[in-house]
Amino acid sequence: MPDRRKFLKHSILSTAIILPFSGKAISLIKSNGASDAYKPLILSTWEHGMPANERAWEVLKESGNVVDAVEEGVKVTELDMDNLSVGLQGLPDREGIPTLDASIMMGDGSCGAVAFVRQVKHPISLARKVMEETPHVLLAGEGARQFAIAQGFPMEKEALSPKAEMMYQEWKKTATYKPIINIENHDTIGMIALGEDGKMAGSCTTSGLAYKMHGRVGDSPIIGAGLYVDDEVGAATATGLGESIIRINGSFLIVELMRQGRTPQEACEEAVRRLISKNKNISDIQAGFLAFNKEGAYGAYSVQPGFNFACHHQKGGNLLDAKSKF
Ligand code: ASP
Repeated sequence: MPDRRKFLKHSILSTAIILPFSGKAISLIKSNGASDAYKPLILSTWEHGMPANERAWEVLKESGNVVDAVEEGVKVTELDMDNLSVGLQGLPDREGIPTLDASIMMGDGSCGAVAFVRQVKHPISLARKVMEETPHVLLAGEGARQFAIAQGFPMEKEALSPKAEMMYQEWKKTATYKPIINIENHDTIGMIALGEDGKMAGSCTTSGLAYKMHGRVGDSPIIGAGLYVDDEVGAATATGLGESIIRINGSFLIVELMRQGRTPQEACEEAVRRLISKNKNISDIQAGFLAFNKEGAYGAYSVQPGFNFACHHQKGGNLLDAKSKF
């Protein structure tokens, strides 16, 4: 978390950070809202998207399967013990219980999601099982857990990771029973991928808002809010305060704006404008969107500065800063 704070202070908008393995500075989002276009292309929210994209890229290269790529990619983040916002090691709810949300979607409309699920290490794989093995789209809570058991998922011990335990105990000292909404406390991984054949898929997985009310579900497992994919148009994913994103059905909105001719960048900017107009106390809210269209042009935009995303294509992987409204 302190690293994120430091990063925010030093954030320079719209610059490409050249990472050692990439070797090239590429794909700045241009001021007219256009970006270079790449196919295949993988985009993920936040810095943790870098290793996730690398894994997804590997899978895409080997199999050409975008769904496998987005599932395997975010599984890296779900296992990352340093990550406090994705997976069972994430920060818990007010009762000290980690509960997870995830969704997966293909560009042909197939989708699956799980919400408020406990003890499952890979909620993204469970979401995929919902998509492939049930007639439903969303399973929640104990029902989702029972489905996981029936599908042979191991049940993990319900204990906080050492880091989460420490932070939770610290939070409890001053707990005001009000969700802490700031840039440091929520950062889902949302990943969207475009294959060489034009097929698209997306995944989104999170432990949700830190210290949320027990039972609270964010945007990530809500198809259309945290994730939306349509092979005819493009894909979008979201991160940030889920309630603000659900209110405007953010990812679906972006895909529909692109369908009407907006560039991915313009569509993300319009979604942020809409979000700002439909949410009170906007200075307390961070939300960010990421999108590409079927040509492989992409865009990103957030309410507050500090949102970054990982972009991977044939020229390598880069971490890019999104522009923001404020
Ligand atoms: N969108 C997630 C949620 O509200 C958290 C985040 O992305 O920061 O649960």
